[in-house]
Amino acid sequence: MSTLNPSGTSPYVFTCDHASNRIPRRIGQMGLSDDEMLSHIAWDPGALEVAKGLSRALNAPLIFSNYSRLVLDLNRPPSSRGHIPEVSAGITIPANRAASPQEREARLRAFFLPYHGAISDIIETRLDRATPTLLVAMHSFTGDYPGETRPWHIGVTHRFDMGLGAEIVRLLRERTDLCIGDNEPYQIDDVDDVTIPFHAEKRGLPNALIEMRQDTLISRHGIAETIERFSEVFGLAAATVLEAIR
Ligand SMILES: [Zn+2]
Repeated sequence: MSTLNPSGTSPYVFTCDHASNRIPRRIGQMGLSDDEMLSHIAWDPGALEVAKGLSRALNAPLIFSNYSRLVLDLNRPPSSRGHIPEVSAGITIPANRAASPQEREARLRAFFLPYHGAISDIIETRLDRATPTLLVAMHSFTGDYPGETRPWHIGVTHRFDMGLGAEIVRLLRERTDLCIGDNEPYQIDDVDDVTIPFHAEKRGLPNALIEMRQDTLISRHGIAETIERFSEVFGLAAATVLEAIR
């Protein structure tokens, strides 16, 4: 787990749960091929570059993972099958199938608890100082999922969002000609999500989970354009939402 700008003054706090495809050396390569480790099942390609760009542009705290979601998915609770997945998108993960209860517990302590502890620490410090705090989780998704058509360039996932996700959808639709998914291609649910329900919804903080289609983040230009677009839209959305809940 790493942080960037932990004391940043922006109202936004960003997370990037699936930032990396690295595997700790002691686990090896999970029994997977190089191609599989580069694919979307291992991480969210492009998401960390955008999250870092936003953290710098807005002077906002960012907490991000240093290891693959295949080692432990930081956005899946320990009760979820996806927490330490034995199968992901139809691909069996041999090292997880073989993981003992002790190994699972060791990964929980090494990765899950420090990551969510760091997010809680940053948020609680801000709330103690009455600093307005909006939590946005940055993800990317594959446009190429077997059996599904995914036309959206950006998906905004939100539920008990205090108006933030809905305002981001409205602004993106008003200011771009991109195809914007409103709770597409994913929805937040209590069985399979941790970051937004646990850190934002439970505390009543405005929030959104952003999904960027991976083919829009392949070039340097695509990443720069995405950072610029979100910097502007997030700035406008924060002003509206903070005014409304004041
Ligand atoms: Zn993700």
